[in-house]
Amino acid sequence: GKRTGRNRVIAFDPEMLTDVRHKRLIERELRAAIILDELDLHYQPVFAADGALSGHEALVRWQHKVRGTVPPSEFIHIAEESDLISRLGEWVLRRACLDIDALKAPRLSINVSAAQLRRGDFADRFAAIVAETGVDAQRLTVEITETVPLKAGGVEERNLSALRTLGVRVAIDDFGAGHASLEYLKKFSFDVLKIDRSYVANLAESPVDNVLIAAICEIGRVSGIEIVAEGVETGEQLDLLKAAGCTHFQGYLLGRPTPLARKSVPSQVRAA
Ligand code: C2E
Ligand code: MG
Ligand code: MG
Ligand code: MG
Repeated sequence: GKRTGRNRVIAFDPEMLTDVRHKRLIERELRAAIILDELDLHYQPVFAADGALSGHEALVRWQHKVRGTVPPSEFIHIAEESDLISRLGEWVLRRACLDIDALKAPRLSINVSAAQLRRGDFADRFAAIVAETGVDAQRLTVEITETVPLKAGGVEERNLSALRTLGVRVAIDDFGAGHASLEYLKKFSFDVLKIDRSYVANLAESPVDNVLIAAICEIGRVSGIEIVAEGVETGEQLDLLKAAGCTHFQGYLLGRPTPLARKSVPSQVRAA
């Protein structure tokens, strides 16, 4: 009948058939975008419990000529399939380092993907960009998710240890969103733990999430790990998070990711 016919059409969706070609296209365009400087960073503020601005998180955006602003969820996973993720990561680090003074906050975080950490030269290249831009490494934090394998003596662990030796802080991002989180915590010394926003979203309704966040904050207090709550959208969430012992907060309630207003060259000067 009609239904089966429709289903068959969906099963042979041309978009699925060209999935690989679509990926190749994005990859090619992204490679060009990095060279042409069509990427941009948006910065989202992070606040301490007393309301002081403690830093920002850099979040990459792609200003596509046709598609407009493309969010990272649409291209990071494609970049991760090749060396492109390292090129993108180095672009992000350099841009962030160049912007750090204009941001007027002590700290700046950047996201680093597992694919970047698998490269043996990651830490050396990171250090080179930090040196080249003259940034104090102690102001930088790298955020990694728990999908990063942290086998003792493995390349990822060696890269992160090298960064920590430079003074860069290491944050575990989206904590609680994956598996075996507590085990992961014990494997490596993190400086910062970011509670996944799914826990924050449920806070008002879920006594279990409340207790879990309080327990994570207690672990943080005992082991000297800074606890950042992600995705704070309401005043009620903020109050509950403070009561649970969180020390740092990030979310739309407090500030959205926004581009840095760069000093633009006046048009008269450009035209001259
Ligand atoms: P993330 O590192 O966990 O970043 C937080 C995400 O939550 C950002 O999405 C941010 O815009 C969003 N967000 C912040 N506050 C709120 C809130 O109150 N409510 C809600 N619903 N969302 C909020 P974005 O910018 O789309 O980034 C998504 C993910 O893409 C990031 O998650 C990170 O994993 C990855 N990403 C972003 N920039 C980079 C980058 O430069 N390099 C790499 N490797 N990954 C990046
Ligand atoms: Mg992050
Ligand atoms: Mg996160
Ligand atoms: Mg995330």
